[in-house]
Amino acid sequence: MSHKDKQFAAGAETHEFQAEVSRLMDIIINSLYSNKDIFLRELISNGSDSLDKIRFLSLTDPSALGSGDAEKLEIRIKVDKERGVLSIRDRGVGMTKNDLKENLGTIAKSGTSAFLEQMQKGGDVNLIGQFGVGFYSVYLVADFVEVRSKHNDDDTQWIWESKADGAFAISEDHGEPLDRGCEINIYLKEEAQEYLEESKLKELVGKYSEFINFPIYIYSSKEVSEEVEIEEDDEEIADTEDDDMDTDDDDDISDEDEDDTPKTKTVTKTVWDWELLNDSKAIWLRSSSDVDEEEYTKFYKALAKEDKAPLAYTHFKAEGDVEFKAILFIPELAPTDMFDNYYNKASALKLYVRRVFISDEFDELLPKYLSFIKGIVDSDTLPLNVSRETLQQHTSLKTIKKKLVRKALDMIRKLAEEGQDDEDDEDSDSEASVDTSDEETKYDKFWKSFGKAIKLGIIEDASNRMRLAKLLRFYTSKSPDKLVSLEQYVENMKEGQKTIYYLAGESQEQLQKSPFLERLLAKDYEVIYFTDPIDEYTMQNLTEFDEFKFSNASKEDLKFGDADDSEKKRNKALREDFKGFTKWWKDVLPVDDVEAVKISNRLVTTPCSVVTSKYGWSANMERIMKAQALSDDNKMGYMRGRKTLEINPRHPLVRALREQSEADPNSETTKELAVVMYETAMLESGFSFDKPADFAGRLFDLVRKNMGVEADADVLSDSEIDASLPEKKPKEPEVEDEVPDITFDDAEEMKDEL
Ligand code: ADP
Repeated sequence: MSHKDKQFAAGAETHEFQAEVSRLMDIIINSLYSNKDIFLRELISNGSDSLDKIRFLSLTDPSALGSGDAEKLEIRIKVDKERGVLSIRDRGVGMTKNDLKENLGTIAKSGTSAFLEQMQKGGDVNLIGQFGVGFYSVYLVADFVEVRSKHNDDDTQWIWESKADGAFAISEDHGEPLDRGCEINIYLKEEAQEYLEESKLKELVGKYSEFINFPIYIYSSKEVSEEVEIEEDDEEIADTEDDDMDTDDDDDISDEDEDDTPKTKTVTKTVWDWELLNDSKAIWLRSSSDVDEEEYTKFYKALAKEDKAPLAYTHFKAEGDVEFKAILFIPELAPTDMFDNYYNKASALKLYVRRVFISDEFDELLPKYLSFIKGIVDSDTLPLNVSRETLQQHTSLKTIKKKLVRKALDMIRKLAEEGQDDEDDEDSDSEASVDTSDEETKYDKFWKSFGKAIKLGIIEDASNRMRLAKLLRFYTSKSPDKLVSLEQYVENMKEGQKTIYYLAGESQEQLQKSPFLERLLAKDYEVIYFTDPIDEYTMQNLTEFDEFKFSNASKEDLKFGDADDSEKKRNKALREDFKGFTKWWKDVLPVDDVEAVKISNRLVTTPCSVVTSKYGWSANMERIMKAQALSDDNKMGYMRGRKTLEINPRHPLVRALREQSEADPNSETTKELAVVMYETAMLESGFSFDKPADFAGRLFDLVRKNMGVEADADVLSDSEIDASLPEKKPKEPEVEDEVPDITFDDAEEMKDEL
């Protein structure tokens, strides 16, 4: 049956939908996506949210709940088959007239645009709930929708109506009084009549709304048999069946053999009653041994409004001074906006106090860097009848937070170890086992999605720094394709190696060719590659691991730890021998740029490189800071690491430059060569110039000299350049190149010859 012609109530106030809402509805209505089922989940979820709200309000104002039926915090589903209407009723807070207008006509939040964007990218309607626009999914199945609503703050009961054609209407509702809450009447589309079937609705509630913490009832019929006495005038067989679901006493009376004693018969009755569909006992209250993985996954999907299973979960009970139960989940993927507005984001945990939902925007439960963790916390220790603000300051929250962080980090560690174990198993397996080491482990996935969060944690959470450091993963010179941990690095350290080496830059490719690695690689030391802009910040907060200090391979004073006496002696002698030359070179270079010219112990095949002092920015850091839109020039100057030119005393170019400089210390050409070598080293070491033109000018000059072009050679004028061009010849007709035809036989012959 179609409700397309249904009209708004007479005299109703009509309003236009906000343009975004209309667009959203268009998309939903025209969505080819077949899973229309989700509308029920969204509406039940809204009902549950509004029940949470009234329950929360009643904590500080018990009269908010009212009395009698109004006290029943529940959701009821009913169908009217004849009219083709499905109704969902909750006794939640309800909406005032203004709420109806605002909540169901406009969308203030960025929800719509984010959702529309996702849909345009081929996203899934299924995720609509995540964007705060779930209500509109009702238009997947509805021709017409009524929302009847009563709020404590509004004396009037209102009805909101819309058929998704750009307008909605609000008028006073004279229907049955609701006490409080909402009733949504969905006039189902012709092709959505299946939602009138009890079995379908039960299936959907079971599938999607199992974890709603309020009872959900459906008005359903069942057949019951009953023995009744036969009355004299009841011998005739009545065969009446009535669809009217409000009547309990329409009997379907079965026939019976006539018998004198006893004068009874079995009667099959169709009884209509409210049937409870869910077990609203919260899953987190159950013992973890009674809940299986599938249930956790289902719970997660319902909680996170997510399609995918979580990567990991932990369910635990904290006892002692502060008691609480919690379930935490790690999603598989990071939300696209994870780091937008990072410092203002609340954690994604739902806080309950003694089963009563308090808030899902409670900032005090987890630190920012763990805000990707989803889950619920239910505490018996926190007080119930206080405002959110008072609760936020409660001392127990600190303890709860501390324990939650521990548990969350434990869960991540276990996830990491899981992958590790698999690998160990493989190693010990026989050769015949399939090598699956290339396969992405769960932890690899985790790292891809949330590695940055762990790095932020190292910066922000000093008390858990070591725990977090163990979770770090990176590629190295010895493991360019497979992530390794610091523990693995330390295990693989060479004898005599005293520090953990790393180098930061834009990409692995660039790092692999860095002159800074030459000596380290020659010594067969492993070097960690850091390519994430945040890495060097992180390393500023992590100075050692397992008693080994970290060394940045691009910084001055790089120690190799294993220099023997003869090497030390040689270095000293070299420094002495090159003293005059390094001083000359230093004097030739711009004063502000270079602090010193030194003999290098890290270079093998590169003539020279530029390193920074230990406490200033590295080249990579300088690059990152320059890229920041609001970088402060003063700070740039201050933090920019003092640079040292390191020269390779074994390199022929360096040796030649020394000879030339000694032959004629004042030669402009030699000085220029020294500057160009320095500048080239700057580039190779990852720095960029403030004035690239100077460098380019010098380099072109060198090229010019090399080609024997005079310094004052003129640049050609237009007329000179015209004259230099070859004269244009009249165009000759084009002749196609003749291609000899190859016959099939020739080809065969050629093949034979080959
Ligand atoms: P979300 O629930 O994610 O905010 P929806 O589009 O589902 O987004 O709902 C929009 C708003 O309408 C809700 O935030 C809520 O204020 C209001 N609302 C929807 N359903 C109900 C209901 N059953 N009772 C009270 N308010 C409701």
